[in-house]
Amino acid sequence: MSFSAESFRKQFPLFEQEENKGLVYLDNAATTQKPESVINAVRDYYVHSNANTHRSSHRLARRATEMVERVRREAMQFINAASTREIVFCRGATEALNLLAQCLCGNLQAGDEIVISTAEHHANIVPWQMAAKRFNLILRYVPHMAGIPQFDRLGEVLNERTRIVSLTGGSNALGLRPDLAVVRQLLRRMHIMWIVDGAQLAAHDIIDVQKIGCDFFVCSAHKFYGPSGVGFLYGREVLLESMPPWLGGGEMITNVELEASHYAGLPHKFEAGTSPLSAIAGLGAAIEFLGQQDRKAMAQHEQKLVRWMHRELMASPNFRVISQVRHNLGIVSFIPVHSSAADLMHWLDGRDIAVRVGHHCAQLLGKESGDLVTVRASVAAYNTHKDVQTFLQALEDYCEVQHLTSMAAGVEGDDW
Ligand code: PMP
Repeated sequence: MSFSAESFRKQFPLFEQEENKGLVYLDNAATTQKPESVINAVRDYYVHSNANTHRSSHRLARRATEMVERVRREAMQFINAASTREIVFCRGATEALNLLAQCLCGNLQAGDEIVISTAEHHANIVPWQMAAKRFNLILRYVPHMAGIPQFDRLGEVLNERTRIVSLTGGSNALGLRPDLAVVRQLLRRMHIMWIVDGAQLAAHDIIDVQKIGCDFFVCSAHKFYGPSGVGFLYGREVLLESMPPWLGGGEMITNVELEASHYAGLPHKFEAGTSPLSAIAGLGAAIEFLGQQDRKAMAQHEQKLVRWMHRELMASPNFRVISQVRHNLGIVSFIPVHSSAADLMHWLDGRDIAVRVGHHCAQLLGKESGDLVTVRASVAAYNTHKDVQTFLQALEDYCEVQHLTSMAAGVEGDDW
């Protein structure tokens, strides 16, 4: 197999709309666009199979239930989990991390420790802060320099009280990927539960949780060409078994009595209420869609674009590049030297180039250097050579206009 970004892109109806013909979409770390097969799967679910699952046993309900359990099998294969009992559907990475924080921390002793990093998305910080407060636990951070975590120094914050290490598989702000093999090596035989926030990882790499060796892995479908509002939590069966349920309600019980209830087995124990069924159908289609691609060639294509953007931006005196080329998922993060990031974003938007400006839900990264507000351009496999050329040209034009404006205002060249 090989990969052509141009033909891949044709499968995404949004780019085929007249009003989007000139769109350069570089906000893929926020969410990816959806291929036709995913959109159709969501629609087909409502047209052909809509019914509530697991409880009713009429024909449509059986069909909807079969769909959900088929997608669970696909999700299991997608990340190479050992059993469908290890796949819990949820709304996304945020919900999965909240579930873990609440369910795991309740079993810990006061004074036990949790390790996260400054590069985490807020979804992998705030739930641990909340749980630490509730259960009297200590939250520690991987050693960092100017806010950037030094993952190879993780060992320095591990001790006999460390119970949980929850780290990104790839940072949404910088694209930075910790070496998971190194983390695995450090955690080996320490009886520490290891969570990987894989929200950014699944679109760019093949996931094998058994090879990674983590205990939990979370992801969101909308980051890998699937619908929003759905994702899944992977947990090693023995650990999920030992955890109490999180939300209570229908579907997660076998028997309800006056004083207490009996909980369903895995994975239903963690799936209270009606699941986002049409989105699960779309999640299955996204997994099938990725399964039909040459993933290696896709990743190589993305890497080429990211390296090119880094090269050009680093060579320019007008930008300070914050992200690194090495171990990068597909994100270029930078700051314009002579203007605000927001001004640049508006200029790009005026040219129909979508990037994101802000702290990208990772405020801790910038805390030591003031509030780090960056422009983030993040790629997906449908971004073409032409997209990057248009983006780089727009940046050049912006600098030119800025320069002329400052000259007209009498600002000396050196200040520029
Ligand atoms: N972790 C990371 C690294 C993310 O990029 C995101 C989404 N930006 C999340 C967690 C949360 O994902 P969701 O909002 O889909 O729950």
